[in-house]
Amino acid sequence: MSRALIEDRVGEIRQRMRSVAGHDAVHLMAVTKYRTAEESLWAVEAGVDALGENRIQEAVQKWQHAKPPVPLHAIGHVQTNKVKYGIKLFDSIDSLDSERLADAIEARVAEVMPVMVEVNMGLEESKSGLHPAQVLPFITQLNRWPHLKAEGLMTVLPARRENSVEESRRIRNYMQEMADLWRMCRDEGLPWAPLNHLSMGMSGDWEWAVEAGSTMIRLGTSIFGPRPAAGAQDAANK
Ligand SMILES: *Cc1c(COP(=O)(O)O)cnc(C)c1O
Repeated sequence: MSRALIEDRVGEIRQRMRSVAGHDAVHLMAVTKYRTAEESLWAVEAGVDALGENRIQEAVQKWQHAKPPVPLHAIGHVQTNKVKYGIKLFDSIDSLDSERLADAIEARVAEVMPVMVEVNMGLEESKSGLHPAQVLPFITQLNRWPHLKAEGLMTVLPARRENSVEESRRIRNYMQEMADLWRMCRDEGLPWAPLNHLSMGMSGDWEWAVEAGSTMIRLGTSIFGPRPAAGAQDAANK
């Protein structure tokens, strides 16, 4: 993907975000898994607000010598034994979904680490994240980890199985429930959980997410084009 194309795409997405949201405050995160540092920085130049990386090790390889000039978020499932490698590289851990991970982060950071609590809204076995019913109890107790500050909720919703009215209704219902859950938790007014962000929406569904109230969308494909095939990805990670 060329620099000019990335710039065009980010510009178009920005414009569309503004028209869907009716304002300019929704954050745009470029998801840079399997992208080079160079491509990722072109997205930063084009004006994205943040970068998101799925794998700690990939992020460490890419960014350990020169941190990107916008906040770097961890958005993939974090195995607790990987925390020690690179947690300090990140400005936010957006995939907090267990006490064990909270323990691991707490043990590694000296300053306050912003986190988002990940919610498995579609109750999919393949996905990480807390059951929606566990979210408020978890957040209420998050002051047990004095270095964590809950800046938001994050979710990866089910992919659309087909293009049908029922299917779009199903996905949009999840989005609505997610937004309701976020507002309910935020309204608790817990000092350690300001929950300013609802991170929801990817390339295939972000416009619906913004309509439902998302404050941060995470786009990979629609900025950078299709990701390399799985085999090539594995080779690239060796
Ligand atoms: C890959 C990924 C994205 C971006 O996916 P696209 O469909 O390419 O926009 C967003 N969030 C998470 C957690 C991801 O793993």
